Amino acid sequence: MSDTPKLDFIREIIASDLSSGKHETAITRFPPEPNGYLHLGHAKSICLNFGIAREHPGAKCHLRFDDTNPEKEETEYVESIKQDVKWLGFDWGDELYFASNYFQFFHDCALHLINNGLAYVDEESPEEIKLHRGNVQIPGTPSQFRDRKPDENLAAFEKMRSGGFKEGGAVLRAKIGLTSSNMNMRDPVMYRIMHAKHHNTGSDWCIYPMYDFAHPLEDALEHISHSLCTLEFENHRPLYDWFIKNCPVPSTPRQIEFARLSLSYTILSKRKLLQLVQEGHVSGWDDPRLPTISGVRRRGYPPEAILHFCKRIGITKYNGTTDVALLEHDIRDNLNGTAPRRMAVLAPLKVVIGNFTEEPTPSLVVPNHPQDDSFGEREVTFSQEIYIEREDFQEVPEKKFFRLGPERYVRLRGGPIIQCTGFEKDDSGEITLLHANLLPDTTGKDSPEGVKCKAAIHWVDAATAADAEVRLYDRLFSVEDPDAAEGGFLSVLNPESFKTVNAKVEASLLLEAPGFSCQFERTGYFVTDSKDHITGQKAVFNRTVALRDSWGKRR
Ligand code: ATP
Ligand code: MG
Repeated sequence: MSDTPKLDFIREIIASDLSSGKHETAITRFPPEPNGYLHLGHAKSICLNFGIAREHPGAKCHLRFDDTNPEKEETEYVESIKQDVKWLGFDWGDELYFASNYFQFFHDCALHLINNGLAYVDEESPEEIKLHRGNVQIPGTPSQFRDRKPDENLAAFEKMRSGGFKEGGAVLRAKIGLTSSNMNMRDPVMYRIMHAKHHNTGSDWCIYPMYDFAHPLEDALEHISHSLCTLEFENHRPLYDWFIKNCPVPSTPRQIEFARLSLSYTILSKRKLLQLVQEGHVSGWDDPRLPTISGVRRRGYPPEAILHFCKRIGITKYNGTTDVALLEHDIRDNLNGTAPRRMAVLAPLKVVIGNFTEEPTPSLVVPNHPQDDSFGEREVTFSQEIYIEREDFQEVPEKKFFRLGPERYVRLRGGPIIQCTGFEKDDSGEITLLHANLLPDTTGKDSPEGVKCKAAIHWVDAATAADAEVRLYDRLFSVEDPDAAEGGFLSVLNPESFKTVNAKVEASLLLEAPGFSCQFERTGYFVTDSKDHITGQKAVFNRTVALRDSWGKRR
């Protein structure tokens, strides 16, 4: 039996193209349109395209900004996209391209098609064009401009290019046919007029190519061997091939489609993500609840866990939804092995230890990882007053509650056993303070008196604890398929997706740099916020993921 992992269908095609000699090597591309921030769906495409480039000698993946639409694109997006690709661990080397640098080539290809009687300028209104294209049942009918001679078309196209038409006044269409059952093939528009300033070419052009015309030409010009895109483009492929066949291009790329990533409880559409940002439903593109790469980075998702997730879901030809719990599982799994343990109390309740004496242990030594000694140990201070989690005390303990209650014992993690000797309440009946005694000589040992504890709770020393703002993030949407919600995706925003608590944490956590990940014992994985945490001054933590999935049992 071979232990080579089974290749996905795209890698199989590439392997066979290389072994048959059809291509010398594989050249792929990742072609984002710089009109928003990258999200986890793009990560899937990045892993595929840049991944393939790593797997064959001489293979490359181009980073190409598909910036042919002047209206929606901004340089801010270009920079964020580069940062995100790098953060995922990929490198385009010298292969950085901008489709807007090919405007002259697209124009030359258009002239070529016009000269060969394969394109015409249509001056019908957009409404008329739409009407005359028919639909799947009704064949299209020719525009009155369809049979213009090449010379006439050349002149009209030049008029388009030089600003002689208003927006919508004319388009250039490919002359393919009007009866195809594939609507994309019914004399599709190649160029439209837009009197807009482009971030790269300024006002050099007022005609801009359509995606279906530009994309195959970009691929061919860059000698892309395999142009990988998502399944929605499957019925655009005949058009892709038509432009490649009929334009003077230097190579013949092949388009192959794969299933896009779609995740439960998640929106993966740049347009909708933009809406969430612009309407202020989230704090920005890097809001830790968003599935943007910058959002999950700020949330504390390790890039390695995202790569592992992409590998695990694989590449297929069938659209389906992946359970977001699978991704969260990979995040936990990764952090379990890499994140040191710390103690933090998110809902602090003070405990006064009546019989505390300085001797013999003013500070305790605790391991930084329960299974991995290479994380070492640290000292945590211990004094007369400590904080424990409110939920670790019950005045009337319910069944199977093994933590603190009146007269009950519990072990402090890394420390001694304590016994609750009393509690205080405020006027509203809320418990404000616990009194306890410690059992001497029980740190790291069983109790000499034979007291047994089933639970060990986390705690922090009140004398040295630092205050921390802890941001508890949860899923942004409260239903599995927000896109299908009757009232639209905004109607199913999870009101509990963001809460802030004032926590008490081990003093050393204040001194960590932004981006430091750790596990708060018994609670979850947390990371110091990249924007608001100020080392030595202000501790701000984001919850990356809770220790357990609390969503599974709700369903
Ligand atoms: P969106 O649908 O979010 O607007 P897009 O497809 O318009 O995304 P592009 O910038 O054109 O965004 O995408 C760049 C590349 O990423 C394309 O090759 C596209 O197929 C791929 N891609 C986008 N979304 C996904 C996804 N959910 N799963 C896999 N690949 C994706
Ligand atoms: Mg797109």
